[in-house]
Amino acid sequence: MNFEKSNSIFNDSNQTISFLKKEVEKFVKDRKWNKYHTPKELAQAISIESAELLELFLFKSPSLEEILNNPNIFSNISEEFADIFIYLLSFANAINLDLSYAFQKKMEKNRKKYPLSEFSNGTYKKK
Ligand SMILES: [Mg+2]
Repeated sequence: MNFEKSNSIFNDSNQTISFLKKEVEKFVKDRKWNKYHTPKELAQAISIESAELLELFLFKSPSLEEILNNPNIFSNISEEFADIFIYLLSFANAINLDLSYAFQKKMEKNRKKYPLSEFSNGTYKKK
């Protein structure tokens, strides 16, 4: 069960990346925090928030089942995901990056790097 989404009218199906980028842009601008949202600071913030996500798994290994069925674990993971995502959006704003275009280009590259003819049997090897 997805605890966070179950009662929300704000979800992935009805929001655009553009809208979310504008929300973050307004949040940062209203607080006059643009001076802190430089590429270096944002790269560091993404790494720090990623470490906070990792910290949730330090000395424990909740299974997928446990994550999906424990509202506390799910909520903590959700919050760190959101932190990472917000900083990613702010970084995209700071460097005027079109995330959908970047996503599409990288997926094209990944499809070429990991062709189905070679990777459809579940094996994985770093290329
Ligand atoms: Mg955090």
